[in-house]
Amino acid sequence: MKNSNRRTGIMTTAIHAGDPPDPATNASTPPIHMSSTYLSDDVAGFSAHDLTPESPYTYSRWANPTVAGLETKIAALQGTEACLATASGMAAAAAIFFTFLSAGDHLIISDVSYAGVAELARETLPRMGIEVSPVNMSDLQAVAAAIRPNTRLIHTETPVNPIGRLTDLAAVSELARQAGALLSCDATFASPLGMDTVALGVDLTMHSTTKYIGGHGDAVGGAVAGGADLVARMRTEAAIHHGGVLSPFNAWLIARGASTLPLRMKAHQAGALAVAEWLEADPRVTRVIYPGLASHPQVDLAARQMTNTSGMMSFQVGDAATGERVAQRMIERLEVIHYAVSLGHHRSLIFWMGTEGLMQSSFRLQGAQQEDYRAFAGDGIFRLSVGLEDAEDLIADLDRALG
Ligand SMILES: *Cc1c(COP(=O)(O)O)cnc(C)c1O
Repeated sequence: MKNSNRRTGIMTTAIHAGDPPDPATNASTPPIHMSSTYLSDDVAGFSAHDLTPESPYTYSRWANPTVAGLETKIAALQGTEACLATASGMAAAAAIFFTFLSAGDHLIISDVSYAGVAELARETLPRMGIEVSPVNMSDLQAVAAAIRPNTRLIHTETPVNPIGRLTDLAAVSELARQAGALLSCDATFASPLGMDTVALGVDLTMHSTTKYIGGHGDAVGGAVAGGADLVARMRTEAAIHHGGVLSPFNAWLIARGASTLPLRMKAHQAGALAVAEWLEADPRVTRVIYPGLASHPQVDLAARQMTNTSGMMSFQVGDAATGERVAQRMIERLEVIHYAVSLGHHRSLIFWMGTEGLMQSSFRLQGAQQEDYRAFAGDGIFRLSVGLEDAEDLIADLDRALG
């Protein structure tokens, strides 16, 4: 599970890390190890506490060769010592929360997060006796003010789904360090190519591998990359005891996708920039938020922190009623872009997210926090995940749907 990132270039790493030829058959492409159990040549214990990185394979909830290959690849791409692959992105977030937080602990979390993560933090964690403070992570004073003696974890997401607001990871990691808390970052929007989270001081970098890392819309999965000790604790707690492990079949699909991640991210970024510039110049579009555009409110931070601005953007078309009308037209008229949730696939995906609905369902922000959200998202946004199609075709499709 050691990181081999630094020995080869990023494209070579993406292809070869975790994917050696099969020693049993010399197969160039790794086989899928669809085995739940393994023959023992030893009378050994059967507790998660007996597991070390050198342990032989025992049972696939503990470790599986195909899943381990994907973990090696993601750790190498992210530049961490280790990685835990999970059954979904939500299982990755849950692995972080339930491994590193106990009753009486305090969590500071981005007040705009992936909706499932926001709901887990607001509804489930308090039930377990964990104090939760949702904070606008782009406001460093608000983060500093939220820190308590029992703050154990700061969980951020940048760029944040769905509005594309950024967190200054270097600054927040300094606050976390001073507080003696861990910093975790959901970097799904950026992918491992988008930010050097290790250099920025992040302890745990999580991804929904359903998105860019898998990249082809065919497998749900998640991952948390970090130091070997932290990952070992999550493997015991979240994988072995809570059981949210990734299937070897999905691991193989996701690893195959990850092999071309650097190449795909370059193409996502180039396509997104072309589409964002076209949208921004179109009078029917009220506003475009993309970290690769000079108009992004945090463009300096984007330039400092992001090495790839990915294919994720949001844009507004008038008020909520207009947005909903355009969304309906998209469902009827789009020929290339799929009107569907999810993101980071080779296919372009778009989805309308009304601010009113999000506030009532998952975010429930009030006062200044809701104003900060509306300053980015107005009455609602189209979240667009620019895929790998020709930008001209995407632009023609959007032109048709904007009517
Ligand atoms: C999709 C997503 C998740 C959840 O991942 P699943 O694989 O759907 O469980 C978490 N965070 C972000 C930012 C996401 O986009």
